[in-house]
Amino acid sequence: MSAPKLEAAGLTKIYKDGAVVAVDNISFTVESGETLALLGPSGCGKSTTLNMIVGLERPTSGDIRIDGRSVVDVPAGRRDVGLVFQDYAVFAAMSVRDNLAFGLKVRRTDKAVIRREVDKTAEFLSLTDCLDVRAGRLSGSEQQRVAIGRTLVTKPALLLLDEPLSNLEASARPAVRQELRRLQQELRLSIIYVTHDQTEALSLADRVAIMHHGKIIQEEQTLQIMQYPGHVRVAQFLGSPPMNILRGRLADAGGGVKFTHAAFAVLFPACALPAGIRERGPDKQYALGFRAEDLVLVPPEQGLWQGEILGVEIRGGDAVVNLNSHGSPLQCVVEHKLKAAPCAAPAGTRSESAPDLRPEPEKEGFPTTRRTGVSEAVPETSPAFDVVSLRKGAPAGLTLAPENIVLFDGDSNLRLESTLVPVPQCFNPQPSPSVA
Ligand code: ADP
Repeated sequence: MSAPKLEAAGLTKIYKDGAVVAVDNISFTVESGETLALLGPSGCGKSTTLNMIVGLERPTSGDIRIDGRSVVDVPAGRRDVGLVFQDYAVFAAMSVRDNLAFGLKVRRTDKAVIRREVDKTAEFLSLTDCLDVRAGRLSGSEQQRVAIGRTLVTKPALLLLDEPLSNLEASARPAVRQELRRLQQELRLSIIYVTHDQTEALSLADRVAIMHHGKIIQEEQTLQIMQYPGHVRVAQFLGSPPMNILRGRLADAGGGVKFTHAAFAVLFPACALPAGIRERGPDKQYALGFRAEDLVLVPPEQGLWQGEILGVEIRGGDAVVNLNSHGSPLQCVVEHKLKAAPCAAPAGTRSESAPDLRPEPEKEGFPTTRRTGVSEAVPETSPAFDVVSLRKGAPAGLTLAPENIVLFDGDSNLRLESTLVPVPQCFNPQPSPSVA
């Protein structure tokens, strides 16, 4: 039997006589054998959505259909939907075997069938060796496997996983994630995976629906959603670090585009507004989105605009530089070379094999650019870049290629198809100074 298709149509859940709108008119579909992730911060309505689908909560309005049949009036036990909670929900004093058998015993399944299905599920989840162990004695990841097994043994048509990894110690998560991926591939169940963790959503789901304040603000194929955030909130939620957002107005000016923020202005050289944006008039508000990887750090006098360094987080091969730009927080990812730079220090003080990460204030410097677009306009700085030398409070110049800017409508926060248009014949090899 193929896995069912689930449809949620206009699903709404209101608590406290209207004081709390936990889920606000959401619609989505999970195709047969597909995994949909509901991704969003705590309190955005993910669990309430699952509880309505499994039958623990009744929707205030809207419909839930499994293979085209409404299940809103079908009691929880008869919906053929399995729910795995984040807190394992195993009976700690019972053996793994009794835990796995529980759901089938409740259904008064034949004893021989119970034994066969429990053995099969235990083997599938590599729990055979601990069938007679008390569940409470197992590690967190083993207990979570028991919890998943307890649900799987009842052969639900639709599997709902509510933050199944969030109570596990970080080191155990990759293994359970891998286990879930295998389970998906081998069983081809229709799955809804609820999480606040984008890594889990992006690695396990076919499609991702991003929730915010009870609404779905974007639903997209997993590979697409990172690249094409359709809403400012999605841009600010996905990615590590997420996109930078600056709000202000846009106008053609002096062979480029002038961006006017409440606290400062920037002239992006060698580009123009697309006709569609120009027609909207000069008073429209926009949100400019750009990845931290595309923001380039240069010496202060060479920047299109300026910021102040707040701190540096080293993350292996690269580092995130946190900046304050006229009151707006910005993040920039720079390459962080662990190897000693050849001209960074007097001979003999560093070696290739033993990187020297000591702060050396006299070596303060900025990375050479490695980007496209305006990168050609950014003068090369010393190759002896060392992120440790980027001191808190130091001024920094910032540049950004116009083609790396994603435009959002400043009022609706929805992504606009238009982007700034490069004007190569006007290309100015020197970066323009900031305009006040
Ligand atoms: P998430 O799973 O995304 O963390 P929830 O679905 O648990 O979010 O909660 C969504 C909102 O609904 C929250 O503001 C929460 O406080 C509220 N809420 C959830 N359950 C109830 C309830 N039984 N009574 C009142 N408010 C609730």
